[in-house]
Amino acid sequence: MIRTSQLTYRYPNGPTLAFPDVEVPQGTVLLLSGPSGCGKSTWLALAAALMAPSAGQLTVAEQSLDALKNVAADAWRARTIGFLPQKMQLSPALSVQQNLALAQWASGQPEDLQRIESALRTLGVQALARRKPAQLSGGQAQRVALARAVLLEPRVILADEPTASLDDQAAADAVGLLLATAHKHAATLVIATHDARVATLIPSAANGQVGFQSLRLARHSQPSGTMLK
Ligand code: ADP
Ligand code: MG
Repeated sequence: MIRTSQLTYRYPNGPTLAFPDVEVPQGTVLLLSGPSGCGKSTWLALAAALMAPSAGQLTVAEQSLDALKNVAADAWRARTIGFLPQKMQLSPALSVQQNLALAQWASGQPEDLQRIESALRTLGVQALARRKPAQLSGGQAQRVALARAVLLEPRVILADEPTASLDDQAAADAVGLLLATAHKHAATLVIATHDARVATLIPSAANGQVGFQSLRLARHSQPSGTMLK
């Protein structure tokens, strides 16, 4: 479950973003849409406790994020959140398998090669375990990033622009994969995107199996703070 109330984030040298309240029951899907610059990535960073709100309340997977500070936030995030950043951020020098092992290490868990293999198998990329990211196609890299995001069985999956630069078929595959993966883990899924195709892809990919709601953010009207250049 994710619940926000009067959530606001003020960039020190940028805009103040005020987000509409939302409540996303556990295991359902939220589409966070709106034009570029409206604050979608900021919302995801707040939900992942990567940044603290300037005002308002935010509860994610039964945890009130007000109460979380630095180290506790890192441990909570590793346990709870599967983050699929806009740039997939696979480490180029490491193999696919090592990239997933790094995620286990970062969460403080012992390396578990069996679990890594099983996550890669679920996404159909187990044969690529020894490859480096540069040796993967875009679609393969996306599956690997998703395997990494769900490796620790997160309660919440946050995906930032997962269909950016994909053609229609690949975009449908990516959305289908995200929904199926979230459904398998009974995870709450948030897809942040300015891609209008996603709103039509989710209902068919969800196939009536999960609840789905949409939150459209408006472009912030009044950039506060002065740009000194
Ligand atoms: P979206 O993901 O919807 O494109 P973002 O959350 O990335 O939007 O950004 C929302 C707004 O905040 C934009 O106006 C952007 O320029 C501004 N912004 C983002 N990051 C920073 C930052 N580090 N400092 C100042 N302003 C920022
Ligand atoms: Mg963004």
